[in-house]
Amino acid sequence: MKLKIQLLICLICVSLLFVPGSVAQKPTRSHASISPETNALIDNAITVVCTQAKLDPQSSVAIDEMQARPSLPIQSPEAQAGAERAERLLPLAKSLVISSLRQLTVDYGFNKSPKFESRLRQATARVNAVKKVRPDMESRDNASVFLTKPHVITFGTIFLAGLRSDEGMISVLAHELTHIADGDNDSLRVLVSAVGNKASDLTGLDIRGQQSEEITCDVIGAMAARAYVASTPGYESITRRLARSVQHNCVEQDEGDDDHLSPRNTIRALLALNPVLVRELINDREERVPARKL
Ligand SMILES: [Zn+2]
Repeated sequence: MKLKIQLLICLICVSLLFVPGSVAQKPTRSHASISPETNALIDNAITVVCTQAKLDPQSSVAIDEMQARPSLPIQSPEAQAGAERAERLLPLAKSLVISSLRQLTVDYGFNKSPKFESRLRQATARVNAVKKVRPDMESRDNASVFLTKPHVITFGTIFLAGLRSDEGMISVLAHELTHIADGDNDSLRVLVSAVGNKASDLTGLDIRGQQSEEITCDVIGAMAARAYVASTPGYESITRRLARSVQHNCVEQDEGDDDHLSPRNTIRALLALNPVLVRELINDREERVPARKL
């Protein structure tokens, strides 16, 4: 990719980038390698997540609902609360992204490649260099990273206000930080392709190019939020807390584009890639999570 001004598009951009003629993607299960039983578990987990969206006062607002909202001034209390949450959680999100990327590298067997290890070190340095979240009214329900300003995550005020929990915010911060980790030379290309291929194989969806990067960012987002939940025990149910990390995908209007799977397909692919998360959501109980110091 060239070093021109480059906007890496985040998961929420799906709403703004949708153009007439784009077709909502439906799972084509005929080619999916996942068993009907596992598929039923995923359906069950999606129902759990989207039911929590209605019950949990701190649930993340769905993408389509955010898109329908009027613009929100930076000074509004909801946007300010979101900006403070994002700033407070940024250092933790950085560390969780680095450990989650390391884990994903092991999961996909790239830790044996010296070349990839070197790229992962560059990716880690880029994540460590991020310093700031910039609230932006114009960005509305988007968060994005300009690779000309790789130390800043630009965050729409509607989006800041719509992520009402630490779990939801960490998931989205981790998504953006993964774009930064990949950088302007696609450092994580082989890992991103492997994740996209596995997601395609499991779901029967044709996931490639930018869509693979977006789903990889979502995978890291969910891993980071899960590690956060495991490291910060509280009185709320595990299901409720985990649901917040993927809940913004509980849309009524399920539209995707060339760069993004539709939100409903995003959550399906994400859960297909993460069977432990499916079980934890359904059983309301944590399974083993590698110990991490926060
Ligand atoms: Zn993205």
